[in-house]
Amino acid sequence: MNLQAKCKNCNSFIYFRAPVSDRFELARKRGDKLNLKCNTCNADKVYNLNDVKAIESKLMAILALLLFIFGTIGLFIFIWPYFFQTGNIYVITGLISLLTIPFLIYQSITSGDAERIRYFNAKYYG
Ligand SMILES: [Zn+2]
Repeated sequence: MNLQAKCKNCNSFIYFRAPVSDRFELARKRGDKLNLKCNTCNADKVYNLNDVKAIESKLMAILALLLFIFGTIGLFIFIWPYFFQTGNIYVITGLISLLTIPFLIYQSITSGDAERIRYFNAKYYG
């Protein structure tokens, strides 16, 4: 999970990662107070777990998008010759519906990520 807290000193965001799904798991792994160091002002402060928020994984979003773009292009190149070989409308419809698969994968990755973020942020510690 990608997490962030707002620096108590300079108000910039401190980003860190932890393999947890909610604040209770974070407490078990890192204690119920977090010691975070700000990369901007170097202030070392103690944070409550409820000050920590889950944020979207940019890497995950980029990977999902790349998969979507290249998956669609790849599939399109793959099925393109078949369009001319068949006059059957059902086959053509089937081929076109194949093109929605990369989008469905993209959607399930990004909505799964959004769901995990919502779950983390909704459950307050204490
Ligand atoms: Zn700071």
